[in-house]
Amino acid sequence: MIPAPVVEHRQLGRWRIHAIQAGGQKLDGGAMFGVVPKPLWERRIPADERNRIQLGMRCLLIEHDLGLVLIDTGAGNKESAKFYEIYGVENAGSPTALEDGIRAAGFAPDDVKFVINSHLHFDHAGGNTTRDGDRVNPSFRNARYMMQRGEYEYATHTNERTAASYYPHNFVPLVEAGLVDFIDGDREILPGISSVLTPGHTPNHQGLLIESDGERAFYLADLVPTAAHLPLAWIMGYDVEPLVTLETKRRILKRAVDEAWVAIFEHDADTAWGTVIHDGKTYALGSKGQSS
Ligand SMILES: [Zn+2]
Repeated sequence: MIPAPVVEHRQLGRWRIHAIQAGGQKLDGGAMFGVVPKPLWERRIPADERNRIQLGMRCLLIEHDLGLVLIDTGAGNKESAKFYEIYGVENAGSPTALEDGIRAAGFAPDDVKFVINSHLHFDHAGGNTTRDGDRVNPSFRNARYMMQRGEYEYATHTNERTAASYYPHNFVPLVEAGLVDFIDGDREILPGISSVLTPGHTPNHQGLLIESDGERAFYLADLVPTAAHLPLAWIMGYDVEPLVTLETKRRILKRAVDEAWVAIFEHDADTAWGTVIHDGKTYALGSKGQSS
């Protein structure tokens, strides 16, 4: 089931932002929480009979002055039924829940002007492209796509440990069609939207800092996939460099508290966003803030 609500909205400075639940996904709870023992993590997110936990695939749509900006694109619909069954992906729509969510927010996929990928794993970039017979086409025909150059290099030079997450048809056809603007490291990529390298999950994974009229939100992507992953040691087993993740979390979550960011959780089935607090012992979710 696609976790509800499909679309939540709030104001960030002068921009309206929409959290779009682009589908549900079920992954092994042990893999999602790394070295954290099951008795601890299952108090936060219960496991099903196959030890999987319910996750979301939340994308962010920003009504930016230069046009609509979409961050991440969910899992798309190009893989086999078996693939979607293994990963518990439920995102059917017209064609996917992402497009339906964009319409529910009051727009059409063709209105999207910029697509930014946090990284290129299939559950973040799968919706970049759509299959039409033998052809793979961009899902957002009027958009420029933005991704870290280092992530693209990593995604196109896989090994036995990394290959299962990267499907070239999610990104290579876009590069070949000249639709991609590569980002090199930390920089402001659109006025008020900055890429912040947040390595660990992958070496060039990026978060997106969104600032408008003094208010700041941060799209954490797979650095902190759910609110349950806020404690520093709660790190996914999927991360290729977990000790790098630890130091990235230490740096980023301190800023989240100090600068009162609206933290955005991509894979949380329930919580789209909220502030982060440090209660003296650990990081935790503060106020969920107003959605409307
Ligand atoms: Zn990932």
